[in-house]
Amino acid sequence: MNSVDDFIRRDLAAIWHPCTQMHDHETVPMLAIARGEGAWLIGMDGQRYLDAISSWWTNLFGHAEPRIAAAIAAQAQTLEQVIFAGFTHAPAVELAERLLALAPPGLARVFYADNGSSAVEVALKMSFHYWRNQGHGERRRFIALSGGYHGETLGALAVSDTGLYREAYAPLLMQRIVAPSPDAYEAAPGESAEQVALRRLDDLHVLLERHAHEVCALIVEPLVQCAGGMRMYHPRYLSGLRALCDRFDVHLIADEIAVGFGRTGTLFACEQAPPPHAGAAPGITPDFMCLSKGLTGGFMPLAAVLTTQRVYDAFYAEYSAGKAFLHSHSYTGNPLACRAALATLDIFRDEPVLQRNRTLAAYVAARLAPLVDHPHVAEVRQTGLIAAVELVADKRTRTPFPAHERRGLRARLDALTHGVVLRPLGEVIYTMPPYCITPGEIDRIVDAIASGIDVACR
Ligand SMILES: *Cc1c(COP(=O)(O)O)cnc(C)c1O
Repeated sequence: MNSVDDFIRRDLAAIWHPCTQMHDHETVPMLAIARGEGAWLIGMDGQRYLDAISSWWTNLFGHAEPRIAAAIAAQAQTLEQVIFAGFTHAPAVELAERLLALAPPGLARVFYADNGSSAVEVALKMSFHYWRNQGHGERRRFIALSGGYHGETLGALAVSDTGLYREAYAPLLMQRIVAPSPDAYEAAPGESAEQVALRRLDDLHVLLERHAHEVCALIVEPLVQCAGGMRMYHPRYLSGLRALCDRFDVHLIADEIAVGFGRTGTLFACEQAPPPHAGAAPGITPDFMCLSKGLTGGFMPLAAVLTTQRVYDAFYAEYSAGKAFLHSHSYTGNPLACRAALATLDIFRDEPVLQRNRTLAAYVAARLAPLVDHPHVAEVRQTGLIAAVELVADKRTRTPFPAHERRGLRARLDALTHGVVLRPLGEVIYTMPPYCITPGEIDRIVDAIASGIDVACR
């Protein structure tokens, strides 16, 4: 037995991996990675794999990006961690200032956490607590969209709607109110994406008329419902959502954990909401914006919740008033993670990242387009550098393949033989590549997707 196989046996003897039926590893290979280099992962056996999914949507500028690596190394020799209650440090303050300068106007405060789910917990708790501090403790429900995903801690899971992830824990979860997703895939015959968005806003209006008095906030993934199958919707929905939340005095939580930092073509997806009327500025400002994943370029766990002065002020009082937000995580505002985030923002400042991404996105679109003719492809869709191909059993009726056939897994295993890392969501095969991807590498990804589809649909 060679040393890599031996190493993998040690892994399987000691480790329980995330989001994995460990039994699968009796047949599905475990990849032992020695190092990363740009868009590539290099196995302990020397095999090279193109990371077409940015290592679970975290990586922005490639693995082991030297500027971010150097920033972390320097910070590690200066200050690695300090309690963040009663103490502060340069990376945290600089990062907060720069995030607020880049974020939609009106966001004025940054609360740090250390992963996306925790950021969602913070936003949910802060919203509830805001209303409680305002004398509205009767507001204790949240509205979430069908098909949405916000993480897997119990609060975040409660506002998520991705069946398998939540099914087992349903008895433990708070009851949320589900509003139908504006997902353009569900358009009626002849209906445009924009018409779906407007129809879903009407549905939401009805829901808010009935429930607004008991609702703290509505939570949404702007433009793309990622874990729910890279389902995409028209940006008009976001403008309408902001208007409805204002009208019914309900907070809007924008979960930009996956779509933030340039994935959709703008730094934040919220920027793409069209102006509500002529002469108004585009973009919406949510009451809470959750950031994580790409925040550190994919190097360190870090999350940030940006909120408004109005929310902050509702907690600001004498201690005895009992209004403080007493939530904490041990690693809140970790200096190494903040430094990685600052180095990431430096790259956005110093290079035309978004412009380059738009060129790359156009190339992805051109290369993927022919796949729409495949007899089992229902749709090829794309927002910025997030592109997805949805497979179905019957193209005309869009009848899905039975889940237990695991067609997506077959595509994933086939792509691996072509040296490309895919991780389909059910029968949705997608790529969300790092921004250092080249046209030649995009060719390779698209070829692997095309081959994976053929194998999966056999
Ligand atoms: C990944 C993700 C989360 C959860 O973040 P974790 O760091 O995995 O806890 C929340 N919301 C969205 C939209 C995500 O994609």
